[in-house]
Amino acid sequence: MNGLMMHQQLLVSSILAHAERHHPTTEVVSVRCEGDVHRYTFRDMAHRSRQVAQAVEALGVGPGDRVATLAWNGYRHVELYYGVSGAGSVLHTLNPRLHPDQLVWIINNADDSVLFFDLTFVDIVRQIAPRVPSVRKFVLLSDAEHLGAAWPADDDLEVAAYEDLVEAQDGVYTWPAFDEKQAASLCYTSGTTGHPKGALYSHRSTVLHSYGVALPDSMGLSARDVVMPVVPMFHVNAWGIPYAACLTGTKLVLPGKDLSGAALITLQEAEGVTISASVPTVWQGQLDYARANGITLSGLHRAVIGGAACPAWMLRELRDVHGVRVIHGWGMTETSPMGAASVLKLCHEGLNPETQEAVLTKQGRTLFGMDLKITDDEGTEMPWDGRTPGHLMVRGHWVINGYYPPGRPSPLVDGWFPTGDVATIDPEGFMQITDRSKDLIKSGGEWISSIELENLAMDHPEIEAAACIGVRHAKWDERPILVAVRRPGSTLTAEELLGSFTGKIAKWCVPDDAVFVDALPMGATGKILKAPLREQYRKRLTKD
Ligand code: AMP
Repeated sequence: MNGLMMHQQLLVSSILAHAERHHPTTEVVSVRCEGDVHRYTFRDMAHRSRQVAQAVEALGVGPGDRVATLAWNGYRHVELYYGVSGAGSVLHTLNPRLHPDQLVWIINNADDSVLFFDLTFVDIVRQIAPRVPSVRKFVLLSDAEHLGAAWPADDDLEVAAYEDLVEAQDGVYTWPAFDEKQAASLCYTSGTTGHPKGALYSHRSTVLHSYGVALPDSMGLSARDVVMPVVPMFHVNAWGIPYAACLTGTKLVLPGKDLSGAALITLQEAEGVTISASVPTVWQGQLDYARANGITLSGLHRAVIGGAACPAWMLRELRDVHGVRVIHGWGMTETSPMGAASVLKLCHEGLNPETQEAVLTKQGRTLFGMDLKITDDEGTEMPWDGRTPGHLMVRGHWVINGYYPPGRPSPLVDGWFPTGDVATIDPEGFMQITDRSKDLIKSGGEWISSIELENLAMDHPEIEAAACIGVRHAKWDERPILVAVRRPGSTLTAEELLGSFTGKIAKWCVPDDAVFVDALPMGATGKILKAPLREQYRKRLTKD
């Protein structure tokens, strides 16, 4: 027998409709690429998002069509989040830190129909535009005046001003109703080999994930908070914060392009930010600036830190100097991303600070809607004893079950998604990442494929074998170095080898160093053993 309850589709537009109706005066504050600070309310944002939906439809974008953005965190980007997905099209956020060749590949793979971009990315758009035939309209996220300054009217490529498109619409628009399983947004992530792969989020997964993000033992957002997602809106939807803020009526502060410690702290203090979220590298910039200038982060209550492991000193400094509670989180593009957060349970409350710290620096426990397990190489589940490591597997309402575009083999193993992380889980369910089985390096929150770098090294005529490993770096958390074997008689230097990478990949992906050895350690199956190399060269770029 069915329950006698209303049934409503979980649509992204319903989150905005809620914000407009129940939190109309809640503010959204944005630092714009134009250089000023813009502020308006959820009511204004809802109206303009409807105008965006109308504008996108007027451009001939239909349900399911992909609409790309190349943009920082700002109100216009949020309007696109709601306007594009709300209309039934798919918002595709592009990562501007990628090499233009990769952007071209991703745009063509996604078959994007329109590209909205910030003023900062004019040069990138100029480079990629001739190579992305599916994009039939380029739109600068600014007004006609700025467009005129950035783009000559007689340029071969026709570009429209976002404000013109929005103002041409009246905002009288009813959000369409459709199946919650339809796609809302798309985000590509690096593969260990080959090209990036897309995570295609549905409306349902997005709404359920927003509830998860808002729960007290994850970010715990409320209508009394002011949230600043520093984590970019082009990377896994800024960890879902633009949705969760509207779901909870939380004031939203969007920092734009300047992510320096000085800019973030100034904005944070001016707007009364109570909770902010970013990767350790960006938090480090804030803490360095605060320390150097004798500033205390007085208004901040909670710091969400994820994307890479939060070091214990960071947790301590935020807690002891600034009175800020750290919420260390773990997640992936494939998990929308919220997978786990380290928030104490009642049983930890009486423990001494050192013991609590050991719990809080773990990646945390999961929340309803997600499940975790660790397995051995054969898939047998490993015990939750806090000591035994295993392959971290996840499943849940906001975990992908395949990559976009469809057609390739499912990544799932017995219904679980293999994360490529290695972890322990303690008896209270706190997961701790101990290693990574995927061949990727994470530098300042961005992925670098070790295999791609190894292939480039091997392209050099004087290189016989090469292994690329991630080693600790004080600022970027991890940086790639090469360990290589030269061909007999070669006197190739590290500079010459690394110089050969120029122009072939983004500058920040070029390894920091190259070490030459006589032979690389090999496993029984002829695979290079990277674990001993990682151990041997762990401190190559740091002193501690
Ligand atoms: P991405 O898909 O780019 O968001 O990256 C997800 C990956 O980042 C995870 O699979 C982990 O390898 C890593 N990661 C994310 N959060 C953490 C964390 N708190 N500690 C350690 N590694 C993390």
